[in-house]
Amino acid sequence: MAKEWGYASHNGPDHWHELYPIAKGDNQSPIELHTKDIKYDPSLQPWAASYDPGSAKTILNNGKTCRVVFDDTYDRSMLRGGPLSAPYRLRQFHIHWGSADDHGSEHTVDGVKYAAELHMVHWNPKYGSFGEALKKPDGIAVVGLFLKIGHEKAEFQLLLDALDAIKTKGKEAPFTHFDPSCLFPACRDYWTYHGSFTTPPCEECIVWLLLKEPITVSSDQMAKLRSLFFSAENEPPVPMVDNWRPPQPQKGRVVRASFK
Ligand SMILES: [Zn+2]
Repeated sequence: MAKEWGYASHNGPDHWHELYPIAKGDNQSPIELHTKDIKYDPSLQPWAASYDPGSAKTILNNGKTCRVVFDDTYDRSMLRGGPLSAPYRLRQFHIHWGSADDHGSEHTVDGVKYAAELHMVHWNPKYGSFGEALKKPDGIAVVGLFLKIGHEKAEFQLLLDALDAIKTKGKEAPFTHFDPSCLFPACRDYWTYHGSFTTPPCEECIVWLLLKEPITVSSDQMAKLRSLFFSAENEPPVPMVDNWRPPQPQKGRVVRASFK
């Protein structure tokens, strides 16, 4: 594999294990969700997010995705409840998407690939730092939202309007006064399982909360995401599309549902 991982044939998901052996581990993400095999667990609590819009800082093109970064130096924007044993701090969110509207999500639901999947990444402050949390099986909590095509979502447009400032790899712009809970669907039902980051190094430190109800965005809004570039300003342009990892083996892991 080339020095830097990516999503192309020479450095894509099939190659990641060459530099990051855990990518072939027993707790990798994403996975295929087969809803008929998922059991309702009445012990699962409702979850809640209390995000401080003032904790949003910047939006970044890191050459793999667009990422919105939050101040996580203290308990400002928090996720609580659900399968979590403690409150977790919001650090960043980012998106995975396709080259067309009929694919792009990482998890699949009964074979359905959504147009995109948004990941809100939180860490458990009991571990002292984000870096330490990455080493713990319950260090990170990711809320995953599926994006399907339909009517435009106004709250999503706030994010899309910022993309013109970060077209190419390495660009960063201020992105403030944003409460990402405006993106959540009305229904809080979720599936949960233990897995990994879907990008190298693919650390197996994640409690996943995947929201059952997709949010709706328009086809034009999806096209705006695809106007970003994997490449830097001084490089031949490579459109940022298909930055998703395909499903990984479930290897006996149990997925639980918060709902009947
Ligand atoms: Zn992700």
